[in-house]
Amino acid sequence: MVSTIICPRCKTKNSKKAEFCYNCKNPLKPGKTSNKKNPLSLNPKSRFDFRIIVTGLILFVLCNIVLLFISGDYAMLISGFALMLFLYVIFKRFMEIDDSVTLKSLGFKIILYYLVIVALGAILLLAFHLY
Ligand SMILES: [Zn+2]
Repeated sequence: MVSTIICPRCKTKNSKKAEFCYNCKNPLKPGKTSNKKNPLSLNPKSRFDFRIIVTGLILFVLCNIVLLFISGDYAMLISGFALMLFLYVIFKRFMEIDDSVTLKSLGFKIILYYLVIVALGAILLLAFHLY
């Protein structure tokens, strides 16, 4: 007899060995997940987003300032690329913690954050007459 464990959230039958429900990714063994703490995962819905925007914005503006002295023409382009890479790494890491984030929504999130940060960064750069 294969013993099963029923998911408390979606009532799907899972193997007793499973740590997460294969249907809704709900943790089946509560004790197992608590030691997997990450400062970014404390509240992924609210604080996490704000931190990414602020960090990304600083990265983008600093990149622009530095690159403007080296190669003015490509400053925005290279900064944009660096920002995209930063967002990808951050969200990729976030995905490992919360598997409910699908690849499609990951891409959408990256683009959304990218646009917000670039828009804010451009306003900042123009406000300080750096461009
Ligand atoms: Zn479930």
